[in-house]
Parts: sequence; C-alpha cells; structure tokens
Amino acid sequence: SVLADQIAAGEVVERPASVVKELVENAIDAHATQIDVLVLESGVQSIRVIDDGDGIADDDVLTAFKRHATSKITSRADLFRVHSLGFRGEALPSIASVADVVLTTSTGTTGTSIHYRGGKLLKQVPAALRQGTDITVTDLFFNTPARLKYLKSPQTELANIVDIVNRLALSYPGVAIRLVHNSKELLRTAGRGDLQQVIAGIYGVQNARKMVAIEGKTADYALSGYVALPELTRASRQYITVLINGRAIKNQQLTKAVIKGYGSKLMVGRYPIAVIALTMDPLLVDVNVHPTKQEVRLSKEPDLAKLISTTITDRLATVNL
Ligand code: ADP
Ligand code: MG
Repeated sequence: SVLADQIAAGEVVERPASVVKELVENAIDAHATQIDVLVLESGVQSIRVIDDGDGIADDDVLTAFKRHATSKITSRADLFRVHSLGFRGEALPSIASVADVVLTTSTGTTGTSIHYRGGKLLKQVPAALRQGTDITVTDLFFNTPARLKYLKSPQTELANIVDIVNRLALSYPGVAIRLVHNSKELLRTAGRGDLQQVIAGIYGVQNARKMVAIEGKTADYALSGYVALPELTRASRQYITVLINGRAIKNQQLTKAVIKGYGSKLMVGRYPIAVIALTMDPLLVDVNVHPTKQEVRLSKEPDLAKLISTTITDRLATVNL
C-alpha cells in the first residue's frame, strides 16, 4: 500500500542523498559501466540517474515498484549471502511514494516508461531507449511536508550527495561515475578500475600521489587500499572510507582501528585519508540491520579491527616521513 511505502520511505529515504544512493546502487547492481548523476538544487528540485546497465524487462517494471519485490535474492538463505547492494526491494516503492518518479528502461530490445507520483501509477507506455535505465525523481517529499521541512541547508544536502557519490566511486573504480550539480561537474571517474585515480579525483592529485598502498590478509579477511600520510590530512572522519565486499559501511570500531593504525604519526585532532577495502565471506557480515544497509554486524569485529590497525601500522613503519 502507499501508506506502507511511505512508512518505509521514512527509513530508506531520509534526504536527497538517500535517493541518490539507492538509485546509483541499483545501477551498479544492474552491471552499469557508466552512471551519470544529474542533480538540481541539492536534489530537492530533481535527481536524475542514467545508466547503461541491464535495464528492466517490460513485464517486470510494475513489479519493481512493489514493496519487497527484489530480483536480487530469492530465498531466505540468500539473505545471509548478499552479493548485491540492494536486496530489500524497498527503494523504488519508497521513493515513488514520496516524490514524482519517471523511469524509462530497456533491456535492449523493447522498453517501458513509467510515471508514479505520491505512490500512484499515472502512466505506463512503451518507450524506446538504448539498453539501460534513466530515472528522474522530482518534487521529493512534496506530500510529506514535515520531512521537507527537516532538510538541512542546500549546502549540507549537497555535501551529503557528494559524500555518497564519492564513496560509491571509491567502492567501484571500475564504473565510470559522473556527478553534475546545476550543470557544474563535481566528479568524473574514468571507470578503468584504478582506485588511486579515483582518490586523486576526490582528494586532489597532490594528496593521491602521497598515498601509500596497503595490503593485508588473515584466514577470514583480505584487506587492500590506500592510506595517506598524516601531514597532508585535515578534515574529518568523512575521509575514512571502509568498504566491506564493495559496500561502504559505517562502523565506529573499524574507523577507530584505522585511526589507531596511524599511532603517533597522526597529529592530535587530525584525521587521515584512508580507503580500506575488505573482502570476506558474506556469512561473516550481516548487512540486514538497517534499511539503509550502511550499518553492519560483524561476527569477528575485534579480529578485523586488529588486522586493519596492524596493517596500517606496519606499512607506515616502512615509509619515510
Ligand atoms: P532492491 O535494489 O533492493 O532489489 P529496489 O526497490 O531498489 O530494490 O529495486 C527494485 C528492483 O528494480 C530491483 O530488484 C531491480 O530488479 C530493478 N531495478 C531498479 N533499478 C534498476 C536499474 N537501474 N537497472 C536495472 N534494474 C533495476
Ligand atoms: Mg535497490
């Protein structure tokens, strides 16, 4: 029902950046190699995401807007072995329940264009498009004024969008991602799988050049990434990105482990730039904790924290400051 979708939207769609996150994740799950994110007025006016992914078959388009309809997992067992970014089947119906959504999609042969507003299906017509999906979300929260009122300043909402897209770009260096706000290009990655190049695009070439590659391994986990030397780092915890199986996550203990790894090489009050990509058996991580899927439960968190901090410490010990 529209009401259930709006309730779910309260959790999945907090702000424009949440919409951007869900749409870009869907494009990545659909194997897109190029994703364009076009945003107007911090996403409050419109958010458009264009991808060259698999597209949605004509017969499946309506289903995609039904709650808990996901094409990504089919059994309860899959829930504990999630390989895709999405799996809850909540994003599209949630977004469509609190905004105006036009989605045009094609699997390469035929295509469909569908229009929802406030959870109501207004139109569905055949449409021509090259393979991929083009979705535009306008009038976000038009029917939930309280939510609209609680949005922060346009600068803050835009900063949230930039942060989300940056993290997705860092997570998927093999996908060419472009972010444009009010016709100003804020990010463009090449999609050639070069993480250091993506880091350069986000944190500056100068900083990227001084980042050192790290690598570590235990029986359960593999770690790779880059850390910057403390002297060129200012800013905040925002600059620490921890990825688990390709998903940027929020985890206090692991963030602390990164900082701990720097030891005395990190000046008081400073945060490092670090991109830490962890891979592990999906069974060791539960991503089904919160609708935004940014929080995770880890079965052996202390082991993982130790791997992170010692890998960084050992590597920085070999670098001449
Ligand atoms: P979830 O991602 O959790 O499966 P969503 O509500 O985000 O749920 O999307 C519902 C379904 O719509 C997806 O399972 C997928 O089949 C389809 N879908 C959504 N966006 C895209 C896209 N950009 N390209 C291809 N398929 C998509
Ligand atoms: Mg999704």
